[in-house]
Amino acid sequence: MRTRILRKFSFDAAHDLPHFPEGHKCRNLHGHTYQVEVVLEGEVDPAVGYFMDYGDLKKAIAPVEAKLDHRYLNDIPGLAISTAENLAKWIYDELKPGLPELVMIRLYETPQNGVEYAP
Ligand SMILES: [Zn+2]
Repeated sequence: MRTRILRKFSFDAAHDLPHFPEGHKCRNLHGHTYQVEVVLEGEVDPAVGYFMDYGDLKKAIAPVEAKLDHRYLNDIPGLAISTAENLAKWIYDELKPGLPELVMIRLYETPQNGVEYAP
């Protein structure tokens, strides 16, 4: 049986988008409480009834969470243009080597606005 599992995490960070048009509010330094869903797909081991232990998933995500929480995102290599789209891809690229079953990052910049990255 093939399934998808997910784990949510959140972090607080600041950013600005200085390439946005003059007068656009996102040019100003501001912060978000980002909500992230990490989605993995894999085969369930019939002997245990799951394909990945959530504890292992939590451990794999923690270092990436630590790199982002309470940071100025524009200073992080690869996030000079810190849009939600680029941030979702950055998180995917950071996690993929340690989580080959990763299939999607869903990232909410606000409760209303989000992006999915699933290459
Ligand atoms: Zn913003």
